Amino acid sequence: MTKCLPEEEAVTPIRPELKPLYPENWLEIRELILERAKGRCEFCGVDNHWIIYRDRRGKVCSVPRSQRHLKYCYDRDGVRHKNVKIVLTVAHLNHNPADNRPENLAALCQRCHNRHDVSTRVRNRKARLHKARATGELL
Ligand SMILES: [Zn+2]
Repeated sequence: MTKCLPEEEAVTPIRPELKPLYPENWLEIRELILERAKGRCEFCGVDNHWIIYRDRRGKVCSVPRSQRHLKYCYDRDGVRHKNVKIVLTVAHLNHNPADNRPENLAALCQRCHNRHDVSTRVRNRKARLHKARATGELL
């Protein structure tokens, strides 16, 4: 079962310089991919909108109902963990936002999306920094 968040909460912000690469029907495409995923991360299987914490080994644990409204929860040993609400977003597997074929898209949780995009983000950040230095914007 897929629950829907209000549109403004559910849509991941797109960098302004990348917006022209997204098609006009991006929201429809995105919705189809989320439906295909049946409310679960297509990499790790975690449920959308689930409130979780990750233990020291990275294992996903459900936050007890009585602690879901809090920022942190405590496990049976009294160890504090940060609560995380899973929000699926749609990733471009080849990192090309202009390639919106279904086989290039995946519904991912925050952790999987970040891990998938980390090398591209680092490369793009370096490129922006290099450009800013070259144009004197960092003075
Ligand atoms: Zn995941």
